[in-house]
Amino acid sequence: MDRAFLEISRVSVRFGNAPLPVLNGIDLKVRKGEYVAVIGHSGCGKSTLLNVVAGLLPATSGGAILEGREVSEPGPDRAVVFQNHSLLPWLTCYENVKLAVDRTVGRDMSKAERHAWTLHNLALVRMDAHAQKRPAEISGGMKQRIGIARALSMKPKVLLLDEPFGALDALTRAHLQDQVMHIHAELGTTVMMITHDVDEAVLLSDRIVMMTNGPNATIGEILDVDLPRPRDRLALASEPKFLAAREAVLRFLHERHALPAAA
Ligand code: ADP
Ligand code: MG
Repeated sequence: MDRAFLEISRVSVRFGNAPLPVLNGIDLKVRKGEYVAVIGHSGCGKSTLLNVVAGLLPATSGGAILEGREVSEPGPDRAVVFQNHSLLPWLTCYENVKLAVDRTVGRDMSKAERHAWTLHNLALVRMDAHAQKRPAEISGGMKQRIGIARALSMKPKVLLLDEPFGALDALTRAHLQDQVMHIHAELGTTVMMITHDVDEAVLLSDRIVMMTNGPNATIGEILDVDLPRPRDRLALASEPKFLAAREAVLRFLHERHALPAAA
């Protein structure tokens, strides 16, 4: 593979004096522009891994390296979108994005440029018409779109998504997945997305990283999703390659690494 853009190297994480680490020796290399999904059962350590890459949590050993620099703290080059949006409720959608712009890439921009860049990112997620609304006045899906606009507005090297659509209804989720696919095609952003939705992982990703159950979780398998882009969810629904990828992930999760007591 090409030189790794993002490298996760021998990451182990142990919390407090737990007898076993949550994660044990995770190695992963991500190419620039690649869309990687990480899938695994609840509690296996997906968010823990993402938080190490985000710089929100120090690994007990090993670490993450982005473009040759070891991650040691959070930074705008690694923008995170969580399942539950973290918009500031007293600010409008515009102001929520603008705040991120002002604090990062906007420092080198004129006032007019910061304004234009904020609007550009709102338009990217089709939220320009709602720019003056506050979070309480928009739907959950719209809030996630603002969260994505805010993340992208920082021009991150890597977009880190932790189950960003997990709390949304199926139709809204599908709509946002399509938007993220569009944005990924347009900007070529490198994406690491945590999900537990098999269809979502196959639809969006270039590779699917499948994690074994914790504690002591490792990467069990990595699946290449060899489907041409742009991808269309309706056409894929009957595409043999899509169905085969889906089945491979389902088998991993529900046969080889099923939870002992299904919750
Ligand atoms: P996932 O995102 O795959 O559902 P997490 O990464 O959130 O899983 O959690 C993995 C395991 O680590 C869980 O057993 C969880 O209880 C534990 N864990 C996560 N964060 C902490 C923490 N700050 N302190 C102690 N244990 C934690
Ligand atoms: Mg999680």
